[in-house]
Parts: sequence; C-alpha cells; structure tokens
Amino acid sequence: MNCNECRYLMFDLIDEKLSGPVKREMEEHLEQCGACADRLVKMKNRHEEEKPTGLFWYLLAPSGGFKRFFFIGAIFTFILVLALISVQLKKPLFQIF
Ligand SMILES: [Zn+2]
Repeated sequence: MNCNECRYLMFDLIDEKLSGPVKREMEEHLEQCGACADRLVKMKNRHEEEKPTGLFWYLLAPSGGFKRFFFIGAIFTFILVLALISVQLKKPLFQIF
C-alpha cells in the first residue's frame, strides 16, 4: 500500500469500515510510514471533536463514503419534485396530501 491509498482509506479506517486484509495492509503501512500515522492521529482527533449527534448530522457529515452524497441528492430531488408538483397543482405544498 502506498501513501495515497492509505490516505484515501483513512476515513474508512476511522469509521471501522475496513475488513481483514485491507485493514492489515493499512496497519502495516502505518507502522512504516510516520507521515501517514501522524495524519491519521490528526484526523482521528478532528473526527472525535467534530462528531455531531443525530441522524441528520450523521448523513450530512463529511466522510469518505459516496453514499451520503447520493442520499443528500435524493432528498433534494424529492423536495424539488414536490415543489414542482405544488406549482403544477397551484396549491401550497402542505395541501397536496
Ligand atoms: Zn504513508
């Protein structure tokens, strides 16, 4: 594993999303590479400090995963569609249902 791969996977390591072989490779790299180990410590500290509570913040919190971007995109699309329906029906949003 090289430094780029290691840095790319750090979010997943912090979130404990890594499985067996990848995690072991990463730990080996961190033992050999002071720069990445330092970076991981800093990221972990920031992660702890900035960890907000609640589902809303869990979904909006920055992370290595792209799922959240899709999730947020889906929410915005849903709201946009509701707004368009509202305009089409010439009714306020809350009267549709
Ligand atoms: Zn490294």
